[in-house]
Amino acid sequence: MNISRLGIRVLFVLALAVAGSARPAAAADPPTVHAIADISQEFTFYMDGRFHRQYLKDVAASTQNWGTLSKLDLDNANLLLLVAGNPRIPYSAASIEHVRRFVEEGGTMLLMGNGADPMPPGQAVAAVFDARFTTTRARKPIGGLGELDGEEIVFNGGTVLDLGADWTTLATDRDGRPVLGSRRFGKGNVILGARGLFGRKPDASDPINAEWITPMLVSRAATKPVDPRKRPRPIRAELKREIGPLTLQYHEGTAPFAEAVYDVYREVRPHLVEITGVEPSPGMIKSMLILPTGGGGFSSGVLIAIGAWWGNYPEQRYPMVELVAHEAGHSWVLPHAEPLWNEPIATWLGIETGRRLGFPEADATIARQIAKARRRDPDLTKLNPLAEDAHRDVIWGKSYFVFEELERLHGPGAMAKYFQTKRRLVERERDGYSMDDAVAVWSVAVGADLFPWFQSLAFDVDPSRTDLETP
Ligand SMILES: [Zn+2]
Repeated sequence: MNISRLGIRVLFVLALAVAGSARPAAAADPPTVHAIADISQEFTFYMDGRFHRQYLKDVAASTQNWGTLSKLDLDNANLLLLVAGNPRIPYSAASIEHVRRFVEEGGTMLLMGNGADPMPPGQAVAAVFDARFTTTRARKPIGGLGELDGEEIVFNGGTVLDLGADWTTLATDRDGRPVLGSRRFGKGNVILGARGLFGRKPDASDPINAEWITPMLVSRAATKPVDPRKRPRPIRAELKREIGPLTLQYHEGTAPFAEAVYDVYREVRPHLVEITGVEPSPGMIKSMLILPTGGGGFSSGVLIAIGAWWGNYPEQRYPMVELVAHEAGHSWVLPHAEPLWNEPIATWLGIETGRRLGFPEADATIARQIAKARRRDPDLTKLNPLAEDAHRDVIWGKSYFVFEELERLHGPGAMAKYFQTKRRLVERERDGYSMDDAVAVWSVAVGADLFPWFQSLAFDVDPSRTDLETP
């Protein structure tokens, strides 16, 4: 996914909000279509609820599968939504057989994708039903056939399909080559479509072709009755491993990546302890979920997630070292996150860990961010990073500058002194933790009143606004 790491965190909060909200009233209430979108082979925010909002919200009860596909309970589901997936995680033979049997027994499976070189793993799923993706680009316009005759078909591009004799072509490109097809298989149905026939935006704002996609899915799902009183529930990644303060969560497909992330965690943990001078905060029970994506990571309080091949791991190691140390670093900071520094301090912990492990990218990351801040505030004395309209570059660059300067002026181990002092002075039960509080703690940690120094860097901090002792 071409989503920045920061963006992915913000979007995930939205994802949780959507997942937790009530579904709108359905046409059949309770609905007779039970859909499961698989996000275990490849995670996207789109498949995590947005497909439902675009095509199924009025007709189906839907959920997502985060766990091993071959173990997914499909007994009370009649619509399975799959994507072609990422070559890093093949569909296992057991998963393909599980899908085949689901369809044979009456279920409907929609597989969306494009051919590519290398061919995506969904090719093995399509092949079981005697169909294949190709690498030949489809040419617009797209026209409907049979039940889609006369339908307007929007197409965002993709490749044509190679369909076996038992398939019915539902849409073709300008040259008459299929981009959408369907067939009966056992008691159920398979639909195979080029990816560009369906929406893709994480905010669900592009429900293209909904006027025919929805009925196409609903009519086929009717071949398998479900018990509408038993709504489908999300299926979690089912494998677990305890690592330090964290529980690693993954499934069979992400297991190799979980092992690799675990290795990174084991490597960075002693450095986090040394940099902060303390162990992770007690009682901070956290899970680290391995997501089948290269799109980044997020932290949502109790759960942190790591994109399995973030930064092209394992070919590139530094981005993963920085990300794992960052996400784990939150466990050292909580329960009292610094208001301005929640993310910068976690990333700085990641960068400092990378520096200790000898990655040249670490120093370069710091220098680049401070240079960005200086473009807006050349001597870093004018712009208050706590201001409501403070630019991201000022917040991050100035934060890094402060951490580096505190180490230079009050080190070695200034950050460890800060963390140790914070643990000592700030009670767990304390309500809130302001930047005034943080500067007071820094002052005690280094044995000097740092309020004037922070103020000289345009931080709006004031000793009279904190009840913590200052030297
Ligand atoms: Zn974070």
